[in-house]
Amino acid sequence: MTWEQAGKAVLSKWQPEEAVIMLAIGAVESGQWRAVDGDPVSNYPQYAHFGVDGYLSFGWWQVFVPMHYDKLKRRTGSDNPRDWRTYLIDLNNNIDTAREIYDSAGRLFTPWSAYKGGQYKQHLPRAQQVINALLGSTDMQPTLIKWSPNIAAHRPPSKKIVIIHATRSGTPGNPSEFEGTVNWLTRVDVGLSIHLVVDRDGIRWARLVPDDKCAVHAGQHNTETWGIEVCQPVNADGYTEPQMKLLARICKALYVDGQGVAPQHITSMTGSGFIGHEETPQGRAAGKSDPGSTFNWPYFISLLSSTTTPPAPIGDDDVIIKHEAWAGVTHGQEGWFNPAAPREIPGGAVQRLNAYYDFGVPEGTRWVEVEFMFERGYAIIVNGDNSHAFRVGDAQPRGTWTPAKTGRVWLDEGGWFSVFVEDVENPVKIFFAHAVAYGT
Ligand SMILES: [Zn+2]
Repeated sequence: MTWEQAGKAVLSKWQPEEAVIMLAIGAVESGQWRAVDGDPVSNYPQYAHFGVDGYLSFGWWQVFVPMHYDKLKRRTGSDNPRDWRTYLIDLNNNIDTAREIYDSAGRLFTPWSAYKGGQYKQHLPRAQQVINALLGSTDMQPTLIKWSPNIAAHRPPSKKIVIIHATRSGTPGNPSEFEGTVNWLTRVDVGLSIHLVVDRDGIRWARLVPDDKCAVHAGQHNTETWGIEVCQPVNADGYTEPQMKLLARICKALYVDGQGVAPQHITSMTGSGFIGHEETPQGRAAGKSDPGSTFNWPYFISLLSSTTTPPAPIGDDDVIIKHEAWAGVTHGQEGWFNPAAPREIPGGAVQRLNAYYDFGVPEGTRWVEVEFMFERGYAIIVNGDNSHAFRVGDAQPRGTWTPAKTGRVWLDEGGWFSVFVEDVENPVKIFFAHAVAYGT
């Protein structure tokens, strides 16, 4: 198998950011894409009855059979470990089983020892390159096409405007919001429709009306605009980070690049851009409140405008400084971080951090790969020149620590960078931060 085949497989199951990690994990687990049998029975004599030719883990993402025999039994309808091995050395089966393992671990990569042990990190630059290349060549295809009979006009909209809606079934956390919306907007008796529906998982999206026809979604604006329904059962459910990223990728590919819609937020029906249903004359007259206060317009627009190709990863050959430092550990209680007492950055605030003092990285470092572990919240990590470096966010309940989130931040001459907490109502509590310093 090649890096590219493996990359396509992970992209079929994970969002790009997570796909990079999963690809790097597979590279380690498979010894870079050899379809290996791993974990010899001799290391686990208690599981000998699961062994096939002396091994217990199979396929590129090394599924350890003693932990997952229930899944394999269900998937293959067989009790025979040999059938499970045959199943797992098929790429599609292997990645699909890996996704189930990831989901059942609470959407974490921790079941893979290459993740827990950190060995996956050596392959992150290559994995990022592969995923970038694949995304650049991916034309955006919906995961579901279900044509709606409800068409407002058999021609393209007359204006270069996209209306953003929220689905709002009214049932908080509704697990079938996506299916329900697709079904509702394709019923003749309902008489409504939309061009696209974007699910909360950031993977599924549906097309109900082609872009060269007008959908029935906003009264007098039907024949002027394209419309997108973003799944959000109630306003308090907010929007998920993968969902925002998928929405932006779709809007960039289909409407900004594809139809010439301006990558900007507009609040009237003049000019070109993206507008909330609640901001349109029809939406205001009808008392609409979608997409609502939890839709982060500046972030959405920043995603639309950002280039699709992140800076090329720097290979280890280019690195002279490479120094690993744990804030709050190597620096005891002196730095800004203290693992014993999580620090809270208030909602809407900016916390300036200094990589030299807070993390103890050597002076002259040009950039650091920072890793944060934090409690629920959304924050943008800001480069030393005030540009957006990367975003960390998580929708897990308060009191749940997220797995660490990693990204690259460029430092200014004095070693500074910042953390900006996006959501004005909710602070972000940082428990742990870790940096690897790079420079030439
Ligand atoms: Zn609406």
